[in-house]
Amino acid sequence: MYRVLRTSRQVLPLRRALSGLPSASLSGGGATGAATAWTEGEELLRDSVRSFAQSKIAPHVTSMDEAGRLHDSILPDLFEHGLLGSCIPAANGGAELSFTEACITVEELARIDPGVALVVDVHATLVCNAVAQWGTQEQKALHLPRLAADTLGAFCLSEDASGSDAFAMEARAHRDGDVWRLSGRKMWVTNAREAGLMVVFANAMPEMKHRGITAFLVDPANTQIGKTEKKLGMRASSCCEVDIGGVELRDADVLGGVGDGYRVAMDALNAGRIAMAPR
Ligand SMILES: Cc1cc2nc3c(=O)[nH]c(=O)nc-3n(C[C@H](O)[C@H](O)[C@H](O)COP(=O)(O)OP(=O)(O)OC[C@H]3O[C@@H](n4cnc5c(N)ncnc54)[C@H](O)[C@@H]3O)c2cc1C
Repeated sequence: MYRVLRTSRQVLPLRRALSGLPSASLSGGGATGAATAWTEGEELLRDSVRSFAQSKIAPHVTSMDEAGRLHDSILPDLFEHGLLGSCIPAANGGAELSFTEACITVEELARIDPGVALVVDVHATLVCNAVAQWGTQEQKALHLPRLAADTLGAFCLSEDASGSDAFAMEARAHRDGDVWRLSGRKMWVTNAREAGLMVVFANAMPEMKHRGITAFLVDPANTQIGKTEKKLGMRASSCCEVDIGGVELRDADVLGGVGDGYRVAMDALNAGRIAMAPR
């Protein structure tokens, strides 16, 4: 059944592989019970992703660690096998896995290369979830199919002086006529080097403190990608500074409402932080 994972992206490989199998991820206890066993579908997914990671990622682990970057084949292979569309609804071209299933994919990728797992985790559980949960119909129709097919996402929240205390950010969104202009610099942005879409957080109403924080959908081509951090581990994934100064945006680029950014971030991080545990 999991041979379909090797077919083209048009057939929603992961979703189709799981169709007809039990979808509940908890055995015995229902939605509030303890996770004591995997379902048949989860076991099949685990085997499939394990075999993918062994054949497509393992041959490149050492060279990626030495080079501090992804091998050219990795992103096309991840997209082709549906692994970057795990958190995207089937209606938008994704695999629409359950959260447990998405965590299983991260765990299996991390067995072979935690850096590749980090790439997938940030893209799927932070960026795709944020767009799927907070996007307008137009934003979802525009961005989710490409996030499932060929466009990597990055999540730009942290700054030099606001990591744990992320909402103390200094990035600003200034209203200028009918556009928004961003200022500031984001730090440690995973996937920055390869991303085709960024979720960027900036404060549009600093007097409102965290209630002024606003999320924007940004084309990375309009930012300046700065230095890449030389990490001690997970070196396949890029981790860069991103200068957002001068980025000009329209109201249609606001994700959620103006001032909803801290809720967008918390919703995404609630999933993203759990999905970090498997890697
Ligand atoms: C590999 C990697 C990838 C990352 N990817 C991204 C990304 O894609 N996007 C993004 O926005 N950010 C990213 N980050 C940044 C990450 O979110 C921050 O590193 C994190 O929020 C912690 O911030 P900090 O590094 O500034 O540490 P600090 O906030 O300075 O914390 C340093 C230490 O102090 C502790 N501490 C902080 N505040 C308190 C307190 N009030 N009480 C007690 N202890 C405290 C912390 O637990 C920690 O041990 C990434 C970081 C890493 C390492």
